[in-house]
Amino acid sequence: MSDCLFCKIVDKKIPAKTVYEDAEVMIFEDVQPQAPVHWLAIPKVHITSVNDLEGDLHAALLGYVVLKIKQAAQRAGVHDFRLVINNGPLSGQSVFHLHVHLLSGRALKWPPG
Ligand code: AMP
Repeated sequence: MSDCLFCKIVDKKIPAKTVYEDAEVMIFEDVQPQAPVHWLAIPKVHITSVNDLEGDLHAALLGYVVLKIKQAAQRAGVHDFRLVINNGPLSGQSVFHLHVHLLSGRALKWPPG
């Protein structure tokens, strides 16, 4: 999608600090980190939100995104972390390209705000 921020990151039109990338997935540092480690993992294909997930391909893709997060975290020596997906404006979603936050490096409170 031409007006999507994260699609522009995938297309290298906007720079990002890439942690991991392959044909399906990109993981990069959040520009406004909320923890010492704060990454965003996205499918490269544009999916707006969890509400837009459908079918076996999306199911497999989301599982693959989570697997790649785990592998990247392990490579970085990050073992305790929280994964967050905001879905919709009331949840806090501000970029409408499905993404999984990885937060780590400090004690995280529960429940989140
Ligand atoms: P959310 O509020 O769940 O939609 O998360 C969107 C995240 O994208 C926020 O944590 C922002 O700090 C982050 N963000 C916005 N623009 C950029 C960017 N250009 N590079 C990296 N992260 C970004």
